[in-house]
Amino acid sequence: MSADPLLPSAELAYSAPDAAGFYGPYGGTFVPETVVPALAELAAAYEEAQADASFAGELAYLLRDYVGRPSPLYRADRLAEAVGLGAVWLKREDLNHTGAHKINNTIGQCLLARRMGKRRVIAETGAGQHGVATATTAALMGLECAVFMGTEDIRRQALNVYKMRLLGAEVVPVPDGAGTLADAVTAALRHWVERVEDTFYVIGSVVGPHPYPAMVRDFQAIIGTETIAQLAEKEIAHVDAVVACVGGGSNAIGMFYPFLHDVSADRRPALIGAEAAGLGLETDKHGAALTKGQPGVMHGFYSYLLQDDAGNPLEAYSISAGLDYPGVGPEHSYLKDSGLVRYEGVTDAEAIEAFALLTRTEGIIPAIESSHALALLPRLAAELGPEGVVVVNVSGRGDKDMDIVREAGLGG
Ligand SMILES: *Cc1c(COP(=O)(O)O)cnc(C)c1O
Repeated sequence: MSADPLLPSAELAYSAPDAAGFYGPYGGTFVPETVVPALAELAAAYEEAQADASFAGELAYLLRDYVGRPSPLYRADRLAEAVGLGAVWLKREDLNHTGAHKINNTIGQCLLARRMGKRRVIAETGAGQHGVATATTAALMGLECAVFMGTEDIRRQALNVYKMRLLGAEVVPVPDGAGTLADAVTAALRHWVERVEDTFYVIGSVVGPHPYPAMVRDFQAIIGTETIAQLAEKEIAHVDAVVACVGGGSNAIGMFYPFLHDVSADRRPALIGAEAAGLGLETDKHGAALTKGQPGVMHGFYSYLLQDDAGNPLEAYSISAGLDYPGVGPEHSYLKDSGLVRYEGVTDAEAIEAFALLTRTEGIIPAIESSHALALLPRLAAELGPEGVVVVNVSGRGDKDMDIVREAGLGG
């Protein structure tokens, strides 16, 4: 990579993680001894796959003909006018098969599982989106599939549970703790330790021990790579800001990472992540790990984490099930500290308002997760003025959220 006079050299030096999986102080592998060889085997297999053109070829084929990529970059003029910006571009991950970005990652990891000779995959799921994407990909590739899911989430997400079973997956109830996503991850990690010879653990976001955060990022980076190419195709030379929502952080890093390395841009846009502020950052009902958390270890990695004084993870809360995780991917912690990416909280009420606005101005019903990113648009309009140009990653579609928005009082 040649030196770019527009970027400070410290930023060009950004190439994480290091060999041990650290992004500055964050990341790493904080796991039981028994899992260490499995992670090393995974890292080696992934490195080998990256050097193999046939792996890249098969991945590209499935992303195109099965997922439906590239996803469009759509200029939302009525939305731009409503919020007072010059242009708003929507990256339409909601149009992917299964309705969100998650399948970009499950296809990559299941291809890797098959390459490693593992006939069985497991996954954790909260709202069920990653579970459905994994069950879908397992059906496609003829893999056995078990999905760990908290009992409370099983109750709340009956439709996705049914879908996973239809697709041939076993849904394993996790009654521990609050019966939600964090408990499902813990149970899946524990199970993986016992079945590591024949089982591949498909993690659903840029979390977990190394090499997962880097691997999931690489599989999701197609979002930003396509966006940069699509902007060039449309001869859009200047973008002020690129925004995405942050749960574990996979759709956001997938969008941001290529921009962080895009030295051909005339000026790098501001990169902004929207965290769940829930009922408000001043309450204890939110999922804003980066804004309100402290660094700590959970699920095998070191990162910003919502925790009590004794270091135990707290329950996260958000109206969107995909954002209520008490931790966040380690690379986001590094990007926050380095100032390369800015993170802002968006409340449930702001997200619902943004959901309604996109639905009414463009006829696109977004996921409530994605609505958190959309909710930054009015703030950006105030900051950038009427000429501002913003790209929003619409990480998924909102079909799954109909009950929640009805309860929130939309649509009468
Ligand atoms: C799961 C999910 C998210 C949150 O996960 P990230 O890893 O932060 O991307 C966001 N949007 C949608 C539509 C999801 O399904």
